[in-house]
Amino acid sequence: MSAALRYRGRFAPSPTGPLHAGSLVAALGSWLDARAHGGDWLVRIEDVDGPRCAPGADAEILRQLAALGLAPDEPPQWQSHRGARYGQALARLQAQGDVYPCGCSRRDIALALAAQQRPHTRHAEWVYPGTCRDGLHGTPARVAWRLRCGEPGQPVVVHWQDRRLGPQRQDVTAEVGDFVLQRADGLWAYQLAVVVDDAEQGITHVVRGEDLADNTARQIHLQRRLGLPTPRHLHLPLVRDARGEKLSKQHGAPALDTSQPPEVLNPALQVLGLAPIDAPTLPEWQARAVKAWRDGWQDGRFSRPEQETT
Ligand code: GLU
Repeated sequence: MSAALRYRGRFAPSPTGPLHAGSLVAALGSWLDARAHGGDWLVRIEDVDGPRCAPGADAEILRQLAALGLAPDEPPQWQSHRGARYGQALARLQAQGDVYPCGCSRRDIALALAAQQRPHTRHAEWVYPGTCRDGLHGTPARVAWRLRCGEPGQPVVVHWQDRRLGPQRQDVTAEVGDFVLQRADGLWAYQLAVVVDDAEQGITHVVRGEDLADNTARQIHLQRRLGLPTPRHLHLPLVRDARGEKLSKQHGAPALDTSQPPEVLNPALQVLGLAPIDAPTLPEWQARAVKAWRDGWQDGRFSRPEQETT
């Protein structure tokens, strides 16, 4: 990281419900990393997908964070207020010829993939078969906008380095295909919103759950098309339930009781690879946790030593 660039990290919850033991790990890990680097820590409410958001969950998440002593250094931002910025980014990509309108329904995509005898599941997501690449089929009432990912013989292959997982590689063309930036119903896709916001907020370090690692190559491709810098990445271990599934609200994770902060912070610390801390006050707990986090990276316990260059 260049000396001139101040560390800026963020926690970016989707307000589909209150904070739970799983999302707390991302909140705490991103906070610890920012504090250990002497940087800023921001909170961004990722409510672009309005129908999936739970009313009041944003306020509850912010209340829980405050109760746990995780206070952002700047006022939180809401993605639902930022549609104009996403529109500007899309307009730029349109002017560059990087995106195209697509009128395919899910059924159209399934039929096209079946006709091409291509497997059509990958984490239950479909690799878009390219139907509308060279022009819309029919006259759909509404269109989505897709980002071109590669041309025949020239796939988009993204290499990136995760601070914990090590070197990563994804052939975006083969594994993802042209992905949606704006849905036909007008909703902005997570990929576009996160890239525009990380750049505008000057985020230098993305620290989030490992379940999101698979999005990183897409986001890097988009950053390159938009001329935006790529932050460093750290994907944290996930909390799993008894069936080995990622803990999430959909799988019935209970909301956190924040009345005794160390009781919920210590299990999160253990998921992050650190020993629980017994401290008389929350500020003391925090100071020790930040030191333990910094020490963990310095002695190479967390990183791939040969690659970590903080
Ligand atoms: N909003 C995303 C989530 O809650 C996280 C996005 C990110 O950290 O990049 O899963």
